[in-house]
Amino acid sequence: MSVNFDWANLGFGYVKTEWRYVSNYKNSTWDEGCLTKDDMITISECAGVLQYAQTVFEGLKAYTTEDGHIVVFRPDLNADRMIDSAKRLEMPAFPKERFIDAVVKTVEANADYVPPYGSGATLYLRPYMFGSDPVIGVKPANEYQFRVFATPVGPYFKGGVKPLTLNVCDFDRAAPHGTGHIKAGLNYAMSLHAIVTAHHNGFDENMYLDSATRTKVEETGGANFIFVTKDNKVVTPKSDSILPSITRRSLLYVAKEYLGLETEEREVYKEELCDFAECGLCGTAAVISPVGKIYDHGKEICLPSGMTAMGEVTKKLYDTLTGIQMGRIPAPEGWIKVIK
Ligand SMILES: *Cc1c(COP(=O)(O)O)cnc(C)c1O
Repeated sequence: MSVNFDWANLGFGYVKTEWRYVSNYKNSTWDEGCLTKDDMITISECAGVLQYAQTVFEGLKAYTTEDGHIVVFRPDLNADRMIDSAKRLEMPAFPKERFIDAVVKTVEANADYVPPYGSGATLYLRPYMFGSDPVIGVKPANEYQFRVFATPVGPYFKGGVKPLTLNVCDFDRAAPHGTGHIKAGLNYAMSLHAIVTAHHNGFDENMYLDSATRTKVEETGGANFIFVTKDNKVVTPKSDSILPSITRRSLLYVAKEYLGLETEEREVYKEELCDFAECGLCGTAAVISPVGKIYDHGKEICLPSGMTAMGEVTKKLYDTLTGIQMGRIPAPEGWIKVIK
């Protein structure tokens, strides 16, 4: 370990590391790609990404397991999802095997920045792609750049777990048949006003509803929901306009196959919120953050799990999935990609 961070106190912010991976797409082909130390990008003032937001991204983590290996969690699913995102924005797919290879190369090159086991910190990886040549009439770019950079991030639950307070949001995140199911920067640009407003009003996150009927629960700006019923069933919203979270899909598998719980992926109505025992937000960053309270236009829904700790089932899900990730519990075939 040649880099010495105060891992426990590291936040979630960009910290420049030594190496990043770059590949360019031109004349209908990707070049062979390489690692570079250059963290700056020079593109046309009229680049497709700058004018019409033609960009997609991914997020995953590298970390050190109990037995000292550096690993990443299910990068094949990030590769698949980025291909789906790219297709929806008329961008060329970055091939799956090359995506995984780029992630591996970026982690290997920055191995000194992978936090030690037990620190709670991880090396966050950000693969992304954008239209790089000039576009003024509205159409897809002809040239693209794919990159992966790495940045160390601190433990998510610094100072302990604090259940979140959500606000049922009056802004919409995604339209039916829109782009809610892909990981595109444009979904985040339009969520900024809603989250800044929510924070201003004292809420941690927004709960978005389906924009067609505003009766069903979708997700937050950057995490899927997982609910636990009073009889210990794990329920997650089904919708074509939510992002297919890899964490959520993994948690459902863990619930069923490791914990023997019943699981359900179905439409979840806002009216049902008061019937659930536990609620959590799931995504790569936190795995699960517990929700304690949901504010719906003057009405407060307090989850029975309370405002001080994770609910019992949420905690079991969290401990089991993080145990699998850290090598303390045997993983399903193919979930852990060992890099070093
Ligand atoms: C990335 C993301 C998630 C979480 O997905 P993971 O694969 O679990 O990290 C959930 N919702 C949105 C909108 C996202 O962009």
